[in-house]
Amino acid sequence: MLKNIVIFGPPGAGKGTQAAKLIELLKVPHISTGDMFRYHIKNNTDLGKTAKEYSNAGKLVPDSVTIAMVKERLANPDVKGGFLLDGFPRSVPQAEALENILIEVGARCNAPLQIDCVVNIAVSDDEIRQRLAKRATIEGRADDADPKVIQNRIDTYKNQSEPCLAYYRKKNIVRDVDGLGSIDDVFGRIKKIFA
Ligand code: AMP
Repeated sequence: MLKNIVIFGPPGAGKGTQAAKLIELLKVPHISTGDMFRYHIKNNTDLGKTAKEYSNAGKLVPDSVTIAMVKERLANPDVKGGFLLDGFPRSVPQAEALENILIEVGARCNAPLQIDCVVNIAVSDDEIRQRLAKRATIEGRADDADPKVIQNRIDTYKNQSEPCLAYYRKKNIVRDVDGLGSIDDVFGRIKKIFA
Protein backbone atom coordinates (compact mmCIF):
# COMPACT_ATOMS: atom_id res chain seq x y z
CA MET A 1 0.00 0.00 0.00
CA LEU A 2 1.21 3.50 -0.83
CA LYS A 3 0.97 5.50 2.37
CA ASN A 4 4.01 7.74 2.75
CA ILE A 5 3.64 10.15 -0.11
CA VAL A 6 5.34 13.22 -1.51
CA ILE A 7 3.40 15.54 -3.82
CA PHE A 8 5.82 17.22 -6.20
CA GLY A 9 5.71 19.80 -8.97
CA PRO A 10 6.79 23.30 -9.94
CA PRO A 11 5.40 26.36 -8.14
CA GLY A 12 1.84 26.88 -9.32
CA ALA A 13 1.35 23.25 -10.34
CA GLY A 14 -1.57 22.98 -7.93
CA LYS A 15 0.19 20.85 -5.30
CA GLY A 16 -1.64 22.44 -2.36
CA THR A 17 -5.06 22.13 -4.00
CA GLN A 18 -4.52 18.51 -4.99
CA ALA A 19 -2.94 17.68 -1.62
CA ALA A 20 -6.06 18.94 0.17
CA LYS A 21 -8.18 16.53 -1.89
CA LEU A 22 -5.76 13.64 -1.57
CA ILE A 23 -5.61 13.76 2.25
CA GLU A 24 -9.42 13.47 2.28
CA LEU A 25 -9.17 10.35 0.16
CA LEU A 26 -6.25 8.74 2.00
CA LYS A 27 -7.07 10.04 5.51
CA VAL A 28 -3.47 10.97 6.27
CA PRO A 29 -2.02 14.23 7.68
CA HIS A 30 -1.03 16.97 5.23
CA ILE A 31 2.46 18.27 5.93
CA SER A 32 3.06 21.41 3.86
CA THR A 33 6.31 23.26 4.53
CA GLY A 34 4.96 26.29 2.62
CA ASP A 35 1.90 26.41 4.95
CA MET A 36 4.13 25.94 8.00
CA PHE A 37 6.32 28.85 6.91
CA ARG A 38 3.29 31.03 6.16
CA TYR A 39 1.95 30.29 9.65
CA HIS A 40 5.26 31.37 11.21
CA ILE A 41 5.43 34.48 9.00
CA LYS A 42 1.88 35.46 9.98
CA ASN A 43 2.70 35.04 13.67
CA ASN A 44 6.01 36.85 13.29
CA THR A 45 8.03 34.14 15.04
CA ASP A 46 11.85 34.04 14.77
CA LEU A 47 11.50 31.20 12.26
CA GLY A 48 8.94 33.29 10.38
CA LYS A 49 11.28 36.28 10.18
CA THR A 50 13.96 34.11 8.54
CA ALA A 51 11.46 32.36 6.25
CA LYS A 52 9.96 35.66 5.08
CA GLU A 53 13.27 36.97 3.83
CA TYR A 54 13.78 33.93 1.60
CA SER A 55 10.24 33.20 0.49
CA ASN A 56 9.63 36.84 -0.53
CA ALA A 57 12.68 36.57 -2.77
CA GLY A 58 11.48 33.28 -4.30
CA LYS A 59 14.37 31.40 -2.69
CA LEU A 60 14.47 28.29 -0.57
CA VAL A 61 14.63 28.76 3.19
CA PRO A 62 17.99 27.34 4.39
CA ASP A 63 18.09 23.60 5.02
CA SER A 64 19.15 24.04 8.65
CA VAL A 65 15.79 25.69 9.36
CA THR A 66 13.59 23.65 7.00
CA ILE A 67 14.92 20.19 7.84
CA ALA A 68 14.72 20.82 11.61
CA MET A 69 11.10 21.96 11.21
CA VAL A 70 10.16 18.83 9.19
CA LYS A 71 12.02 16.57 11.61
CA GLU A 72 10.02 17.95 14.50
CA ARG A 73 6.76 17.51 12.59
CA LEU A 74 7.53 13.91 11.61
CA ALA A 75 8.21 13.05 15.25
CA ASN A 76 4.47 13.44 15.84
CA PRO A 77 2.85 10.01 16.18
CA ASP A 78 0.02 11.00 13.78
CA VAL A 79 2.33 10.14 10.86
CA LYS A 80 2.37 6.44 11.76
CA GLY A 81 -0.52 5.57 9.45
CA GLY A 82 1.00 7.52 6.57
CA PHE A 83 1.43 11.15 5.57
CA LEU A 84 1.41 13.47 2.60
CA LEU A 85 4.42 15.76 2.27
CA ASP A 86 3.76 18.85 0.16
CA GLY A 87 6.65 21.19 -0.76
CA PHE A 88 9.27 19.00 0.92
CA PRO A 89 11.75 17.72 -0.11
CA ARG A 90 12.71 20.32 -2.72
CA SER A 91 16.39 19.45 -3.20
CA VAL A 92 18.62 16.37 -3.12
CA PRO A 93 20.10 17.25 0.31
CA GLN A 94 16.55 17.56 1.65
CA ALA A 95 15.60 14.18 0.15
CA GLU A 96 18.65 12.59 1.77
CA ALA A 97 17.87 14.24 5.10
CA LEU A 98 14.29 12.97 4.84
CA GLU A 99 15.52 9.43 4.34
CA ASN A 100 17.54 9.68 7.56
CA ILE A 101 14.66 11.25 9.48
CA LEU A 102 12.36 8.40 8.40
CA ILE A 103 14.93 5.80 9.46
CA GLU A 104 15.11 7.47 12.90
CA VAL A 105 11.34 7.79 13.27
CA GLY A 106 10.89 4.21 12.05
CA ALA A 107 13.45 2.89 14.51
CA ARG A 108 11.50 4.50 17.36
CA CYS A 109 8.33 2.63 16.42
CA ASN A 110 10.04 -0.54 15.18
CA ALA A 111 8.65 -0.10 11.68
CA PRO A 112 10.96 0.82 8.82
CA LEU A 113 9.72 3.98 7.13
CA GLN A 114 10.37 5.22 3.62
CA ILE A 115 8.72 7.30 0.91
CA ASP A 116 6.47 4.98 -1.11
CA CYS A 117 5.35 7.27 -3.90
CA VAL A 118 6.13 10.68 -5.40
CA VAL A 119 3.18 12.16 -7.28
CA ASN A 120 4.68 14.56 -9.81
CA ILE A 121 2.27 17.14 -11.25
CA ALA A 122 3.72 18.18 -14.60
CA VAL A 123 3.07 21.72 -15.91
CA SER A 124 4.95 23.75 -18.57
CA ASP A 125 6.94 26.92 -17.73
CA ASP A 126 4.51 29.18 -19.64
CA GLU A 127 1.54 27.75 -17.80
CA ILE A 128 3.38 28.23 -14.46
CA ARG A 129 3.99 31.93 -15.20
CA GLN A 130 0.34 32.47 -16.07
CA ARG A 131 -0.90 30.63 -12.99
CA LEU A 132 1.44 32.43 -10.57
CA ALA A 133 0.47 35.83 -11.95
CA LYS A 134 -3.20 34.90 -11.51
CA ARG A 135 -2.63 33.60 -7.97
CA ALA A 136 -0.87 36.87 -7.07
CA THR A 137 -4.05 38.79 -7.95
CA ILE A 138 -6.45 36.38 -6.27
CA GLU A 139 -4.57 35.39 -3.09
CA GLY A 140 -2.22 38.35 -2.75
CA ARG A 141 0.76 36.09 -2.08
CA ALA A 142 3.84 38.34 -1.90
CA ASP A 143 6.01 35.64 -3.47
CA ASP A 144 3.76 35.45 -6.55
CA ALA A 145 3.52 39.18 -7.28
CA ASP A 146 6.83 40.18 -8.83
CA PRO A 147 7.94 38.73 -12.22
CA LYS A 148 11.54 38.66 -10.95
CA VAL A 149 10.46 36.63 -7.92
CA ILE A 150 8.43 34.31 -10.15
CA GLN A 151 11.52 33.75 -12.32
CA ASN A 152 13.59 33.05 -9.16
CA ARG A 153 11.08 30.44 -8.04
CA ILE A 154 11.15 28.77 -11.46
CA ASP A 155 14.97 28.84 -11.51
CA THR A 156 15.13 27.43 -7.99
CA TYR A 157 12.79 24.65 -9.09
CA LYS A 158 14.93 23.82 -12.12
CA ASN A 159 18.28 24.00 -10.32
CA GLN A 160 17.40 22.37 -7.02
CA SER A 161 14.07 20.58 -7.20
CA GLU A 162 14.38 18.85 -10.58
CA PRO A 163 17.51 16.99 -9.40
CA CYS A 164 15.45 15.88 -6.40
CA LEU A 165 12.85 14.44 -8.79
CA ALA A 166 15.64 12.63 -10.65
CA TYR A 167 16.79 11.22 -7.29
CA TYR A 168 13.35 9.67 -6.77
CA ARG A 169 13.11 8.51 -10.40
CA LYS A 170 16.19 6.36 -9.78
CA LYS A 171 14.23 4.71 -6.98
CA ASN A 172 11.34 4.05 -9.40
CA ILE A 173 8.71 5.60 -7.17
CA VAL A 174 7.69 8.64 -9.27
CA ARG A 175 4.18 8.70 -10.76
CA ASP A 176 3.75 11.48 -13.33
CA VAL A 177 0.41 13.22 -13.65
CA ASP A 178 -0.54 15.75 -16.34
CA GLY A 179 -1.30 18.98 -14.44
CA LEU A 180 -3.33 20.59 -17.24
CA GLY A 181 -7.10 20.76 -17.01
CA SER A 182 -9.58 21.42 -14.21
CA ILE A 183 -8.89 20.61 -10.54
CA ASP A 184 -11.18 17.59 -10.86
CA ASP A 185 -9.52 16.42 -14.10
CA VAL A 186 -6.12 16.42 -12.40
CA PHE A 187 -7.47 14.81 -9.23
CA GLY A 188 -9.13 12.09 -11.33
CA ARG A 189 -5.67 11.23 -12.69
CA ILE A 190 -4.11 11.24 -9.21
CA LYS A 191 -6.89 9.05 -7.79
CA LYS A 192 -6.06 6.32 -10.28
CA ILE A 193 -2.61 5.92 -8.69
CA PHE A 194 -4.26 5.00 -5.38
CA ALA A 195 -7.12 2.88 -6.76
P1 AMP B 1 5.20 26.75 -1.31
O1 AMP B 1 3.89 27.21 -0.78
O2 AMP B 1 5.42 25.26 -1.13
O3 AMP B 1 5.47 27.21 -2.72
O4 AMP B 1 6.32 27.45 -0.39
C1 AMP B 1 6.43 28.85 -0.28
C2 AMP B 1 7.85 29.24 0.06
O5 AMP B 1 8.24 28.63 1.32
C3 AMP B 1 8.91 28.77 -0.92
O6 AMP B 1 9.07 29.63 -2.02
C4 AMP B 1 10.16 28.73 -0.05
O7 AMP B 1 10.69 30.02 0.17
C5 AMP B 1 9.60 28.22 1.27
N1 AMP B 1 9.65 26.74 1.30
C6 AMP B 1 8.62 25.87 1.26
N2 AMP B 1 9.05 24.60 1.29
C7 AMP B 1 10.41 24.67 1.36
C8 AMP B 1 11.45 23.71 1.39
N3 AMP B 1 11.19 22.40 1.34
N4 AMP B 1 12.73 24.16 1.44
C9 AMP B 1 13.01 25.46 1.51
N5 AMP B 1 12.08 26.43 1.44
C10 AMP B 1 10.80 26.05 1.36
